[in-house]
Amino acid sequence: MDAGEGKIHVLAVAVRDVSDDVSSSEPPDAVPSDPEPFTYNGGRVDPGESANVRYGISETYLGDPVRIPVTIVNGAYAGPTVFLSAAAHGDELNGIEVVREVAHDWDHSELHGTLVCLPVMNVPGFLAQERYLPIYDRDLNRSFPGREGSTSARRMAYRIFTNFVEPCDLGIDFHTSTRGRTNMLHVRANMEDETVDRLAKAFSSNVVIAGQGPSGTLRREATDAGVPTITVEMGEAHRFQRRLIDRALTGVASVLAEFGLHRESSVHWPGWRTVIDDDDEKTWLRADAGGIVDMKRGRGALVEEGEVICTITNPFKEDDEVVTVEAPFTGLIVGVLENPVVYPGNPLCHLVGLSPDTKIALERERTTDRSKADLR
Ligand SMILES: [Zn+2]
Repeated sequence: MDAGEGKIHVLAVAVRDVSDDVSSSEPPDAVPSDPEPFTYNGGRVDPGESANVRYGISETYLGDPVRIPVTIVNGAYAGPTVFLSAAAHGDELNGIEVVREVAHDWDHSELHGTLVCLPVMNVPGFLAQERYLPIYDRDLNRSFPGREGSTSARRMAYRIFTNFVEPCDLGIDFHTSTRGRTNMLHVRANMEDETVDRLAKAFSSNVVIAGQGPSGTLRREATDAGVPTITVEMGEAHRFQRRLIDRALTGVASVLAEFGLHRESSVHWPGWRTVIDDDDEKTWLRADAGGIVDMKRGRGALVEEGEVICTITNPFKEDDEVVTVEAPFTGLIVGVLENPVVYPGNPLCHLVGLSPDTKIALERERTTDRSKADLR
């Protein structure tokens, strides 16, 4: 905001020609041997240095700057540039801690490459503890890549995208479920892109849901602009969930190992993995009655076809009138509601089918480690 806006274009081009499709032409770890500075509009971080930046992306009604926190860690050695982002939805907190720990608690003295850490992209939403930008309830995560001279949300998205996303080679965007629901930790990724596929698998989650994602989302627009990017979904909005945060940190470490940024660590194998694509069984089970839901199984639960997942009651219902909801196929509960009140049509749980081999691997893991059951 402080620096001249006209420089944004020039610098973006100087850093990287966005028409170059890095994802298909050259692997991101094929980089020159000399480390390079990271530049953004109004700033520069040299190899071996790191910087905490408050970067202006808009202005409040008072004319004060709206600034997002950005930590850039430029390694002493050459390597890929990776962005880690969170809180595009202002009330999704787990990812903020993941990005903070990577930026500030990890030892990057041997880092080959650069980390661009964006722990809170939607600062107005974060301050209000709301999902959307509190300005006409715009969704920042439908506003990428953004545009100058457009709506407030798109202008903010543009500043973030041109300065801190486009110069990168890879990205991971952290989310949680919408308020009132919870997700097991999983990756969403366009597996048709070779590098996205490699990135998604390197993150080492058990479940990957394949698809390019809605237009305007950071992961889709970044991937389309030549910055292969995945979304990580983990837990619930308004919560700080240590187990999930630790699992996600393992995933980040694994990605940094896979792409050569942290050469001393190794790629993590999650034990079993299922990639759910369009042909696989998956469904959101929805309530057919209004009332209060008694959920029998939690996120990450394996349910058998015909098993009762939940019941729905209301103040006049007697025991034999209670509505029961059964699993239409054997599968894994990836997302589930936490707030138990529903109208007809409200989602109850997100169920995905599993191949027989995956089901066996999952059951074997859970008999040996009961602490993992129903709590991924
Ligand atoms: Zn989100």
